[in-house]
Amino acid sequence: MAEGFFTLLKEYGKAAVELLFPGETCLICGKTTNQGYLCKSCADKWENFAWGRPCDYCGVFVRQEHSQCRWCQIEPPLYIERARAFGVYQGYLRDRLLAFKYEGQTSLAKGFGVLLTKLVVREFAGISFDLISSVPVTEKTMAKRGYNQSLLLAQAVSSGIGVPWADHLLAKRADVVSQTTLGREARIANMRDAIVPLDVDLTGKRILLVDDIFTTGATAYACGKALKQMGAAGVWVITVAAGTDFQ
Ligand SMILES: [Zn+2]
Ligand SMILES: [Zn+2]
Repeated sequence: MAEGFFTLLKEYGKAAVELLFPGETCLICGKTTNQGYLCKSCADKWENFAWGRPCDYCGVFVRQEHSQCRWCQIEPPLYIERARAFGVYQGYLRDRLLAFKYEGQTSLAKGFGVLLTKLVVREFAGISFDLISSVPVTEKTMAKRGYNQSLLLAQAVSSGIGVPWADHLLAKRADVVSQTTLGREARIANMRDAIVPLDVDLTGKRILLVDDIFTTGATAYACGKALKQMGAAGVWVITVAAGTDFQ
């Protein structure tokens, strides 16, 4: 009984400490941490590429012994320099991303911004970006959802790395069908002309494009194409998560 009492006391103590010093939740595994939204164990894994290494070109994770995903082996991305993702789109991270995109949990942008800032520092350290851009949503989506999750991430990364963000560089056509039920080739064809460049001169600018998920790359490539049409010198992409190609 005494043991039970002390366990109880310990639990209360722990709860009181958490109340006084609330830790953040590790966005990869869901454990409480005081280390900036990434627990020690997940930080080690991230540093050692434990969940796969990134494809040379795109954000997809591949086996350690591979250097490119099966799609980039056929044709490397045309309109972007490189894409990088923080984690694999699965488990707790996937749940959080869905809550962020569809359930109004916009406060998650802060933690995702911390992870994305780490990613930029590691992957794109030598590049001095001029502007941070985001993937546009249609007016209908904006009216329904009330926010653009990609723009919230771009703003969080902007304060993380001290590069200005810009909205209204790109627009998304209203008549694009939802991507979620389409296969890879259909997605790329569907998105090809879905992103429209707006009347902004980006001549010579190095753009960092920020989004939540890199799946087939269709969205990133369409944005890259439009940004290049506007004169951008280069487009680099970061996302919170990406898929895997463990062939
Ligand atoms: Zn963790
Ligand atoms: Zn690839």
